[in-house]
Amino acid sequence: MTRDDELRDNLSAVRERIERACRAAGRDPADVTLIVVTKTWPADDVRRLVGLGVTDVGENRDQEAGAKVRDCADLAVRWHFIGQVQRNKAASIARYADVVQSVDRVPLVTALDRGAARAGRELDVLVQVSLDPEPGRGGCPPDQVGQVSDAVTAAEHLTLRGLMAVAPLHEDPATAFARLAPVREQVLDRHPEADWLSAGMSGDLEQAISAGATHVRVGSAVLGVRENVG
Ligand SMILES: *Cc1c(COP(=O)(O)O)cnc(C)c1O
Repeated sequence: MTRDDELRDNLSAVRERIERACRAAGRDPADVTLIVVTKTWPADDVRRLVGLGVTDVGENRDQEAGAKVRDCADLAVRWHFIGQVQRNKAASIARYADVVQSVDRVPLVTALDRGAARAGRELDVLVQVSLDPEPGRGGCPPDQVGQVSDAVTAAEHLTLRGLMAVAPLHEDPATAFARLAPVREQVLDRHPEADWLSAGMSGDLEQAISAGATHVRVGSAVLGVRENVG
């Protein structure tokens, strides 16, 4: 089986899962965007995926993402940055990302806005909500999401699109995603246009769609599981 065949089969299985989850939740599959997470996989795979109809890809490390974006400059694809952002990488990320999903603190908002201004670009931003009671895995505590969201809307070169979350490892994802609803409601109250919810990965996209996800970020179910890569 060629890599193209493998990706085509995996993609259609994932799209079927998305459709089934949407039907179960009484939602329109057209309202859920599949972001294929291509981290650790080569630019050639991004090229194959775009050939198979993928419109959105996700990356989580600046250096790898920057190189891949350059290799894929001829492709019409939307790049989502989904990894933790160190402040000194913000300017670099602002040069190529279309969407930064992992914004979790005000100083990062400032750094991204400045980077976008310098690059002459506009960035879409999601505020990452931490669903993990233990700090350190990225994401903003729910009680600070309002403050970070307000900072994004005040930034000249950033557009607040909504929220992003990752379910904690050792919890039922449905229970974890349910905690997003009040946070989302609060943000939509102040910023009604910020209606994206990026949640759900290979293992929990069904629970995320049932909790209202508009974007799912799927890596291994499409690209496979890689050995020897952390
Ligand atoms: C790697 C990654 C994904 C994709 O995870 P899979 O389990 O491979 O689908 C989604 N979101 C984030 C933030 C990631 O780092």
